[in-house]
Amino acid sequence: MDFGRFGSAPSGTRIGFENGAVVVPDDPVIPFIRGDGTGPDIWKATQAVLDAAVRTAFGGKKQIVWFEVFAGETAKNRFDDWLPQETVDAITHFRVAIKGPLTTPVGGGFRSLNVTLRQLLDMYACIRPVRYFDNVPSPMKRPQDVDMIIFRENVEDVYAGIEWRAGSPEADEMIATIARLGKKVRAGSAIGVKPVSEIGSKRLIRKAIRFAIDHGKPSVTLVHKGNIMKYTEGAFRDWGYELAKAEFPDHTIAEADLGSAAPPPGKVVIRDRIADSMFQQALLRPKEYSVVATTNLNGDYLSDALAAQVGGLGMAPGSNEGTEHAVFEATHGTAPKYANLDKINPGSLILSGVMMLEYLGWGEAAKRVEGAMRKTLAQKVMTYDLARQTEGATEVGTSGFAQALIGNL
Ligand code: NAP
Repeated sequence: MDFGRFGSAPSGTRIGFENGAVVVPDDPVIPFIRGDGTGPDIWKATQAVLDAAVRTAFGGKKQIVWFEVFAGETAKNRFDDWLPQETVDAITHFRVAIKGPLTTPVGGGFRSLNVTLRQLLDMYACIRPVRYFDNVPSPMKRPQDVDMIIFRENVEDVYAGIEWRAGSPEADEMIATIARLGKKVRAGSAIGVKPVSEIGSKRLIRKAIRFAIDHGKPSVTLVHKGNIMKYTEGAFRDWGYELAKAEFPDHTIAEADLGSAAPPPGKVVIRDRIADSMFQQALLRPKEYSVVATTNLNGDYLSDALAAQVGGLGMAPGSNEGTEHAVFEATHGTAPKYANLDKINPGSLILSGVMMLEYLGWGEAAKRVEGAMRKTLAQKVMTYDLARQTEGATEVGTSGFAQALIGNL
């Protein structure tokens, strides 16, 4: 298949989609974006580790066929286009992609890859697993107690981009409309709108509950601010309980129905926590939390706060997932001052690659990379960011860290 300025895709097989699930061939074509700044360094390390893991796990029976596509500064320099249509087309067609960090241009007039793809492919779930690897420096006394996975709604809430500048005709018209509806907003205020729908909330919560059931997780916690925002955040909570009861009655039980009894074996406990209390719980009793499902803004704050508890963004992976598309990504930025120095920590993109392998159903390869990460860090072999806070560490560069991981696969 031809992708315009990028030429033909390499020969391999497109990931299919049948009966509500992706169908993964042994030679899937996967588009990748190296990214800007330190992106090429961390991509090189990631590709080497993922290929070696797939080879070791499947002895040549399976192989990823990589297809390079472009976005960000690299695309601007090469094609005078921050986001070539060919990139959008390739990711849409091949269904699964992985990307390094991209420069966000200052000023308007460009399309953001993340926002464009999220909207176009309706990738409504931002998924961030947060777990601790021994020896990673952390501000917590017991960072190993954190083992959570955040399902953050990705397209609604105050991120829907509906807001008007203070004093603009649109804001003034909204204030007048609100007055007609019997509520008062101070004249001259800026106005933002927070849409939260039943369908949008339920599909996100459904994904979280399904994940908990499939992975034997003990609970799904609905995090919301429904005590203040009853019809948006409060509805998110109510729709969550309603969905669990209607669609997963044999696999879930509401915390309120449990009383003081222990949960029956095999049942996922559905409970809710108010967002501010959840931030306290995450610090004080992290062991009690597993899968979290939450609205967009809460999830943004909570996932970065939790990543900090286990040692920071350099190690935090993430994905954007819809019904039949998924894009895996480094969660940090381009760290441009370290570009081409072979210095930066590739952990975030490599662990996003682990999520991708799991998504493909190639769990054996995913387990090997995660095991190698644990072993390498246990040996105190680390990039500068972790080594500078760890006594007795052996500091290695980006490629050296990848080689150590491959040696430990
Ligand atoms: P950044 O690139 O994340 O870097 C800030 C600092 O965080 C770095 O100087 C470094 O700290 C540390 N850091 C980040 N990634 C690391 C890694 N892999 N290993 C070790 N340390 C790491 O944030 P920024 O400087 O604010 O943003 C730079 C550019 O990236 C901007 O154009 C921004 O818009 C873009 N950005 C893109 C994405 C994305 O594509 N998803 C996300 C965020 C930002 P030290 O200097 O202390 O070592």
